[in-house]
Amino acid sequence: MKFGGTSVGDASCIARVVEIIRAAACEDDVVVVVSAMGGVTNKLIEAATQSEAGDRKAVATIFEELRKKHDAVANILISSAEERSRISHRMEEVFQEGDRLCEGTLLLRELTPRVRDSISSLGERLSAPLVAAALAEQGVVSEAIEATELVVTDSDHGAADPWMNLTRDRCEARLRPLLRHGIVPVVTGFIGATTDGVLTTLGRGGSDYSATILAAALDAHEVIIWTDVDGLLTADPRLVPGACTVPEISYREASELAHFGAKVLHPKTLRAVMQCGIPLWIRNSFAPERLGTKIVPVSPANGGGVKALSAIGDLALITVGGPGIVGVPDVLGRTFATTAAARADVLLISQSSSQNNICLIVSSSLAKRTVDALRSEFAVDLAHEKVEHITLDPEVAIVTVVGQNMRGVSGIAGRTFCALGGENVDIIAIAQGSSECNISFVVAQKDMKTALVTTHREFQLGHCEFATVPSRVS
Ligand code: ADP
Ligand code: ASP
Ligand code: MG
Repeated sequence: MKFGGTSVGDASCIARVVEIIRAAACEDDVVVVVSAMGGVTNKLIEAATQSEAGDRKAVATIFEELRKKHDAVANILISSAEERSRISHRMEEVFQEGDRLCEGTLLLRELTPRVRDSISSLGERLSAPLVAAALAEQGVVSEAIEATELVVTDSDHGAADPWMNLTRDRCEARLRPLLRHGIVPVVTGFIGATTDGVLTTLGRGGSDYSATILAAALDAHEVIIWTDVDGLLTADPRLVPGACTVPEISYREASELAHFGAKVLHPKTLRAVMQCGIPLWIRNSFAPERLGTKIVPVSPANGGGVKALSAIGDLALITVGGPGIVGVPDVLGRTFATTAAARADVLLISQSSSQNNICLIVSSSLAKRTVDALRSEFAVDLAHEKVEHITLDPEVAIVTVVGQNMRGVSGIAGRTFCALGGENVDIIAIAQGSSECNISFVVAQKDMKTALVTTHREFQLGHCEFATVPSRVS
């Protein structure tokens, strides 16, 4: 079971989480994965950035706030003075490590990816002992464990990936004996370590991935991601108020949604369980009586073909184009070699059939760097006007329509574009066909919400009923 930042956001949330774990632990072996308390990772990253900028006072203020926040929760949840002092001591050790990391950064005025990972991971290292202590307080025997002991990763700081064989051995050696003795391990999400023991992180929102990595390593029966909404919804509820819970969805569809912006799942979450076919649930820790969404290896297509929508904003559209590029050797190869060298993740590509326009979508934060790199790569061609322009539209969004077997249902693209036309939403670029279960299109950032609401309405995705857990809360 993984509990996200909002689910462990304050003392009353943690009390609810303890109740969910207690009930489940009566029935089954449970491994718990926790995120940092809501907002804490953002604060830590801000402290890291301020350290690099040399603002000692801002860093001290952030750490003071974080100490108060965690102490307040410990005071509410832990009644025994002795236990409270033990937890406070353990948390203080983590804070002092944070102080030292920031002090080093302040001195050097340099924030390496390795130090940034160490600072941003402090939140999980604080929440795990808190949740374990809150469980013990309610009679559930538990142990807080740092995932650096379990999840062995490569050294790609900020986006590390696990070495599964090594991770499996570690989990067997460290977690299995605890489970055999009826102890609930409470593991820090988000974190791993290289074979040399250097701490890494799996990327923002990566605790979901931690949960499936541990599930695959232990051959778990199922994974439950407990969050703050009723499962995987037909669209982001912050943008589409009528969004509904999707009761069941395939790995493939859920991966597309996660990849194209559904924040409820880290994009790599399903990778870890795809081979072993472990089902994954997304459920609401604030309403545990609701069943939420079950993500399974394959799920039947629904009648209309479309299951859900997702969107990513704050993107930029880069166009390399002009009739002249037809004669330029290897434009595509050179374009992608350049974006790769600039470490710009290309989210969508579209090319006109005459080859005289290549559109790339990258995050806005990388747009300038990418355009500069492309202009430099094609400098000679631009001078000879073979490549006529490399342009940038800095405010676009990708909207993605997802559903299994959409290719077999005619007219989905037509209906989508017709409905959008009716609302005066211009479609800037389209990509379909890389997978048979999505159509993605690019619109201006200002049209993103209208595009989502209109498509949601067109495919009548807003008709739902709540499925609840039949007998007791599982
Ligand atoms: P956690 O802290 O539990 O990891 P996140 O904030 O990372 O939670 O993800 C949950 C949030 O994802 C929801 O509150 C919701 O606003 C957002 N979200 C975006 N798209 C979807 C979707 N399709 N279904 C459910 N939630 C979504
Ligand atoms: N705490 C980390 C983050 O905010 C990881 C997570 O919550 O999944 O990105
Ligand atoms: Mg999350």
